[in-house]
Amino acid sequence: MNIPELPFEHFYRFAEVEAFVKELAQAAPELVKLGEIGKSREGRPLYMLTITDFSTGAAEDKPAYLIHGNIHSMELAGTHAALYTARQLVADHKKGGLLEQMAFYIIPRLNPDGAEFCVTTNGSCRSRMDISEKVANTLYQADMNGDGMILNMRSENPNGGWAKNPKDPRLMVGRTADTPGPYYDLMPEGSIYKWDGSRNLKFHGRTFDWNRNWSYNWKPEPEQWGAGDFPFSETEMHAIGEFIHSHHNLFAILGYHTGTNGVLRPPSSGSDDDIDKWDLKAMHRIAEIASECTGFPIIPVYNYYFKRIGERAKDTRYHGHFQDFGYRNLGLYVYEFELGTMLNSAGITTEQVFGTATPQDLDELYRQALAWADGQGLHDKVFCDWKEYHHPQLGKVEIGGWISQHLGNPLMPDLQKIAANTYEFTLKHAAFRPQLAVENVAVEAIGGGNYRIRARVINHGQFPTNISNRGSQLNYHRPVRVEVELPDGVKLLSTEGHKDLGHLAGLTGNRFLEWFVNAPDNATVLMRLHVFGWTGGNFMATIEK
Ligand SMILES: [Zn+2]
Repeated sequence: MNIPELPFEHFYRFAEVEAFVKELAQAAPELVKLGEIGKSREGRPLYMLTITDFSTGAAEDKPAYLIHGNIHSMELAGTHAALYTARQLVADHKKGGLLEQMAFYIIPRLNPDGAEFCVTTNGSCRSRMDISEKVANTLYQADMNGDGMILNMRSENPNGGWAKNPKDPRLMVGRTADTPGPYYDLMPEGSIYKWDGSRNLKFHGRTFDWNRNWSYNWKPEPEQWGAGDFPFSETEMHAIGEFIHSHHNLFAILGYHTGTNGVLRPPSSGSDDDIDKWDLKAMHRIAEIASECTGFPIIPVYNYYFKRIGERAKDTRYHGHFQDFGYRNLGLYVYEFELGTMLNSAGITTEQVFGTATPQDLDELYRQALAWADGQGLHDKVFCDWKEYHHPQLGKVEIGGWISQHLGNPLMPDLQKIAANTYEFTLKHAAFRPQLAVENVAVEAIGGGNYRIRARVINHGQFPTNISNRGSQLNYHRPVRVEVELPDGVKLLSTEGHKDLGHLAGLTGNRFLEWFVNAPDNATVLMRLHVFGWTGGNFMATIEK
């Protein structure tokens, strides 16, 4: 096998992601199929790698684990982490290994349009910006000075809200009563559409945050910033929603993000008290494994914010968010990893970031991070020194600042270690999957060509086939069903052939089944059992005389 290398040197443009997934699928066609769940708004394929040992059955007949990355445009590290897992699953595959029994669906770049904007320009974009209707007095991002990047502009203004950090004039800090001047306006690099000459500017167009566009507990703006028009209204989100709701074999979903590092678990809104207590325990136990693998703190997503903002009211938490969708709509223990930022690479912890008492304390952490980068010789990688520029509208400004793709993601050498750690977690999480088998098959001849057949359907996995107590109430988890197929000449004597077993508990949850049949003397096969176990896998068992 000629598995493509995955260098951790720079974040990938779409063409590089495309080349990698194609090469991986070509290198191991017996293990990897490249497909698309749809197309992006701008027409890029939404690639999905299906990874399983196809010689032991189709992916949809096996328990499956879904990974998605890069739903947020700038969170490019998620693509690399997802590709790392895809590549490693193939590289580590051995006879008798995991891929014989289960499948992985990997969507490395759910938002190829937004990611392409961020990776090629360093501009900022949450998931999508709608600039189809330009609005007067609005600054739209653009590379004004032709250096190939969209950075920030600072422009002196006695009434400006910003000033240079007295300890490091490269960094801008929010103006307070005692901040020494001069004062500045700070804004993205770009030009102002139909400017009226005032500093009363708006920025960009309407912003969409696709992690607020999932279908559970969705609320429109203004209740939820970035929500979109209706659940799954964004074309890429519709594609992943369709995929998830048409694949009832999923037992786990992991989403990759970047932000100060953390293992995020449900719920997104409400509180832990709203979750079934057994589910909460199981969900937390798996999060502990994630935390052990990654070294990241566990944070319920409703708590992922600055503590200085104070306890937020339940109804101002996240709406239309992935984690509530995953647990409430699917009954799955879903996780999101915040893979980190440059601050984490500089040794600053999530506890320090979220524990800052004032915005000035946070400014100080940024200052420390830049000083660290200077010391590591990484300055040019993460920061662009301010350069004077004559703006056609604003006159004299300076352009420079943090290079957002490096500030907002872990640095590459770190990311390689982080990706290895998240892969380790995924394997451990996958080990919990439901694993159905047909055992204790007993065939007894009872005379006159009649036979009594007994068998047991058992779940050897730790997860029940409904995964969670929440899952037992949802249609998403199909109950286990056994259908019998009788060869020619074999007749069913029992009143019932097919059996609905309901869900099977984790760790040896099982049902004894019994049938009576009549078979001709020359029959060798008495019955075939088709087991539809969905999260535990679908398969056939042959019962011989
Ligand atoms: Zn994110």
